Amino acid sequence: MPSEASHYDTIIIGGGVIGLYTAFHLSARMDPRKVLVVDRTFPSGGASGRNGGGVRQQWESKATIRLAKESVQTYSRFGRDFGFNPWFRQGGYLFLAFREEERKTLQKMERGVREEGLPIRWLDPAAVHALVEELEVPGILGGTYLPTDGVIHPFPVIWGLISELKRRGVELRYRTEVSGVETVSGGVRGVRVQGELLRADRVVNAAGGWSQQINSLAGLPSFTKPTLHEILATEPVKPFLKPMVVTLGRGTYFSQTMRGEIVGGLTMDHSRSQRQGLYSSGEFLVEMARELARLMPRVADVRILRCWSGYYDDSPDGLPLLGEDPRLKGFYQANGFGGHGFMLAPSSTARLAKILLGERTDLDPHWISPDRFTGQIPGRPVEGLSLG
Ligand SMILES: Cc1cc2nc3c(=O)[nH]c(=O)nc-3n(C[C@H](O)[C@H](O)[C@H](O)COP(=O)(O)OP(=O)(O)OC[C@H]3O[C@@H](n4cnc5c(N)ncnc54)[C@H](O)[C@@H]3O)c2cc1C
Repeated sequence: MPSEASHYDTIIIGGGVIGLYTAFHLSARMDPRKVLVVDRTFPSGGASGRNGGGVRQQWESKATIRLAKESVQTYSRFGRDFGFNPWFRQGGYLFLAFREEERKTLQKMERGVREEGLPIRWLDPAAVHALVEELEVPGILGGTYLPTDGVIHPFPVIWGLISELKRRGVELRYRTEVSGVETVSGGVRGVRVQGELLRADRVVNAAGGWSQQINSLAGLPSFTKPTLHEILATEPVKPFLKPMVVTLGRGTYFSQTMRGEIVGGLTMDHSRSQRQGLYSSGEFLVEMARELARLMPRVADVRILRCWSGYYDDSPDGLPLLGEDPRLKGFYQANGFGGHGFMLAPSSTARLAKILLGERTDLDPHWISPDRFTGQIPGRPVEGLSLG
């Protein structure tokens, strides 16, 4: 029989940025010793340690713009709040349009973002060139630029969160795999780790690209699916690139770190099963190198030093799932963030913590709740800028 000590109020499966930030908000409002975060790998072992660090507020849906805006404010004071400097550099995001329909998409988005009080601007081709002189590709119709967007270094965010959670007394168990989600009469009872049953009133599925597997353990089909994304870093070169640059067509994105490396990726189809694990492909190296050299011919001879990959957890409508799963009482989804979980983590998990505490949030439940998929799955994304 499990001892009383192993009965938690909330067990969070996944110690990435979503699980940790959820524990952070939750433990501020309840006994921190009643919250457990469990993760089968090490801090930053999942997508939270494998991403491009982009933090942007340029989105189509109002709710996403608001969440991202709040995250930017949180990350701007992260160093002061957590004592770890995440090197949040606000050099802006530049979205480029090459086709007429892309120009229309971006200009529509620009209006929505400006209505939220953000200083976004439309740049004509000359202004794009003035911002990033190295972008020499012909055919640029213009782009949107929001100077308060930026790039953050993911590791200090994870370290800061872990350090604060430990200080508060939240239990964190890394290298501990959840092998079962225990249920009784349509409700969750706890999780099984290394043969032991850990009881909990609430279980949160914050397993990112593995959330589908956690749902299977709970006997639930998943609404999200993992997709592998590759990313690379070049050798350091003299800083020249202020914003993160994004193109709509292939979701190409790249920025330059403070050390001078160009870091970026693009979307490719990967058909291998998740069972085969994470990998890097020659096809990606060639495609991404070509894309960088096409957009910025002057970097064509810069050498690539590293490449790696991670999982996005994609939802059908491009928006995350946050809240109790209507199919299993006490089982909460906190996944489906696609390629944007790092930038949406602080604000979206603040809402999730409220939901866990039985409170209402300022977000429309139709937008975030997992039960939006128990009816008909939408045919097209609601958030069309869920790319890159
Ligand atoms: C190449 C790439 C680039 C990206 N670029 C950006 C970007 O620029 N900006 C941005 O905002 N986002 C970006 N993202 C997305 C972002 O990284 C993710 O959305 C975010 O990190 C998700 O956090 P998470 O905590 O949900 O998942 P993760 O960090 O993946 O954490 C999930 C955790 O669950 C654990 N787990 C899985 N199964 C089990 C189990 N059975 N038992 C216990 N633990 C388990 C895993 O070990 C893992 O640590 C990018 C992602 C990739 C892959």
